[in-house]
Amino acid sequence: MFYKSTRNPALRLKASEAIAQGLSDEGGLFVPMNLPNVKANFADWVNLSYQELAEEIFGIFLDDFTQAEIHDCVSQAYTAEKFGGKTPVKIVPLGSKDDHKWILELWHGPTCAFKDMALQILPRFLTVAQSKSGDDKEAVILVATSGDTGKAALEGFKDVSSTSIVVFYPDGGVSQVQKKQMATQEGENVTVCAVKGNFDDTQTGVKLIFNNPEMKDFLEKKNCFFSSANSINWGRLLPQVVYYFYTYFELYRKGAISDMNQEVNIAVPTGNFGNILAAFYANQMGLPVKKFICASNANNVLTDFISTGVYNRNRDFYTTTSPSMDILVSSNLERLLYSLSGENSEKLTEWMDALRTAGNYTVDGHTFKEVSSKFYGGFCTDEETASIIKNTFETKDYLADTHTAVAIGVYDRYAEETGDSTPVIIASTASPYKFSESVLPALGNQENMDEFAKIKKLEEISGVAAPTQIKELEKLSERFNTVIDKENMPDFVCETVTAKKGTV
Ligand SMILES: *Cc1c(COP(=O)(O)O)cnc(C)c1O
Repeated sequence: MFYKSTRNPALRLKASEAIAQGLSDEGGLFVPMNLPNVKANFADWVNLSYQELAEEIFGIFLDDFTQAEIHDCVSQAYTAEKFGGKTPVKIVPLGSKDDHKWILELWHGPTCAFKDMALQILPRFLTVAQSKSGDDKEAVILVATSGDTGKAALEGFKDVSSTSIVVFYPDGGVSQVQKKQMATQEGENVTVCAVKGNFDDTQTGVKLIFNNPEMKDFLEKKNCFFSSANSINWGRLLPQVVYYFYTYFELYRKGAISDMNQEVNIAVPTGNFGNILAAFYANQMGLPVKKFICASNANNVLTDFISTGVYNRNRDFYTTTSPSMDILVSSNLERLLYSLSGENSEKLTEWMDALRTAGNYTVDGHTFKEVSSKFYGGFCTDEETASIIKNTFETKDYLADTHTAVAIGVYDRYAEETGDSTPVIIASTASPYKFSESVLPALGNQENMDEFAKIKKLEEISGVAAPTQIKELEKLSERFNTVIDKENMPDFVCETVTAKKGTV
């Protein structure tokens, strides 16, 4: 299995090279040369454990990794200790059996957001990939985060050999729980720093460091290189393909689907388009999917794109109660459009250039037809999201976080508009306790109190226990409290690396 870039089909990289490099030099994203159809494996795969299935699927795509290397990565990443049970995901019915709705809970990992599913294993893939490159360089992972990615990356990279990680977040721009999660992070190779400014300032600061030749030189002298943990890395996308297959097989085992040709719908609360793209790849590999339901919040650039074929980021940016989806440029859409345009790198490069320079592009008629036949797009305002949380709790006895609620709401609208009663898998991406400040008021409690009091109140009202990782935060002492100006981000990185590697 080889990999090429969406913008340069002439490239031919091994899996380990695509993972170690992350992003292609000309700006494109790495994609497999072909997606094998695995339908013939279904009969063998249907009774595998999550870990066994993961090893099978990784074995296909990471074919320059040995079976033992893949086994080690999987068994260290998805442990019962870290994910609260042998199976790292939970699949629960929403409503009665006749509703045909299944919630796929992806947040039982160490940081209570779905990003753990990929970020627990990416660091291990990266270490193996780097060991195959023949040099002994150490990866310095730089992350700009609006909350969930930072903590999940810290937990994933903590004490992983030959790596260190620096996470920047906007001062005052993350929830109290998210801040506390990062400030209390353990591990010898981790550093966390707040930046005065908003998320855009922080992200721009990180991009400037990545593209700064002096910084690159500096790192090389220290025998290090920069790498990124964000969702454009193939090593972060691939682990997400596994849970769609696993869920399908689980529905079959439960009798919710009667044979393995039966189609399902998949609804995903979407930001950078990584999670829903993994579902699309599973479908390309033979998973029977009728419709992908792409759910957004008020930042509804994808809803508009799916209904018009015009992607336009020139619009107001809203801060919503589902902050992990507050995004106007969904990077992984590039991979979808590459596939649906018939792998037309030339057109794709034009569209991406137009996005960078003018802030918008329009796909051709053929690509648009493909997008709109496979995808349904919709969005929920914060008010709608709050009333979905309340309604889902009162009528279905299910406590959803704000992101999951957006997916439930958009799916319900789809079902109502179309009358489609195909069984649906709704991705649940965060624990409701990560966003108590929005979930509690949605249930009718507007009292003013601190984050941890809100968590306790929410437990009382809902009868659902908060994850211990979140409750324990209150007792942990903070290790990181540095706040810097954005101009000082490069210096901060240099000081951190020097402290670790010594001066040259
Ligand atoms: C990151 C995130 C999303 C968006 O996922 P993408 O793969 O970026 O589309 C949705 N919900 C939560 C809770 C997240 O952390």
